Amino acid sequence: MKKINMTEEYFLWQNKIKFSDTINIDKNKKIILKNKKSNSNKSNKNKEVGTMNKANKINNTNNNIEIKNEELKKIYLEVKECMKCEKLCRTRLNVVFGRGDENPDIVFVGEAPGADEDRLGFPFVGRAGKLLDKWIDELKINKYNFYIMNALKCRPPENRDPLPEEKINCRNFFVRQLEILNPKIICALGRHGFGNLIEFDLKTPFGKARNTVHYYKNKDKEVPVIATYHPAYVLRNQKEETKVISDFEFMLKELNNILENN
Ligand code: SF4
Repeated sequence: MKKINMTEEYFLWQNKIKFSDTINIDKNKKIILKNKKSNSNKSNKNKEVGTMNKANKINNTNNNIEIKNEELKKIYLEVKECMKCEKLCRTRLNVVFGRGDENPDIVFVGEAPGADEDRLGFPFVGRAGKLLDKWIDELKINKYNFYIMNALKCRPPENRDPLPEEKINCRNFFVRQLEILNPKIICALGRHGFGNLIEFDLKTPFGKARNTVHYYKNKDKEVPVIATYHPAYVLRNQKEETKVISDFEFMLKELNNILENN
């Protein structure tokens, strides 16, 4: 049986190609589609639809799963094999580790993968991810190095909130990943992402965490944390978008101060 990696899966998804309709992805990353008529007419040739080189153009955030940092790769391999959460490891399609620059100024931390992320193995690639990308573009955040990850590496079924024991199980991966990434600032997207960084009563209105610089102890360093709404929440409450823009501006001001003083 042929196997494909996550980047290839991502390419197929972006191009609306079903895996079952492909017959080969060769070593030059050419994707060959089954010709549906070829079962009855052997003279029909199979159709070549494109090459994986296109996958690099899909997104400009350096988001394939080729991890350069050896320590980060080691954690990723552990995550891939992880069976600590009985339910999640049985229902996940992929673990969702992170994407972006491995030497980032900013790390965005969300809570857990959704359906698109689970299918593709990348964080923030569904509708919420597109909204995050839009903010990143509009505020020119992409002139800085940034990385995007979730606290939890497997999708909770039906997009339910992560259970406390699942957060505890996954915490070691999250902490070690952040230690290696060593960002200058962290942007928490939503209350669960934030709650993994800063002690926070989840019953408190999340808006109270905004407009303040919090600090997360990353190894021996206090890293500033800014809280804002998760893009999935903004999709449901569009009037909150202006608050996220203002939070991102606040974060960039903090980051620029840090960069100037370094
Ligand atoms: S959520 Fe984390 S701890 Fe739980 S199975 Fe997935 S990788 Fe392991």
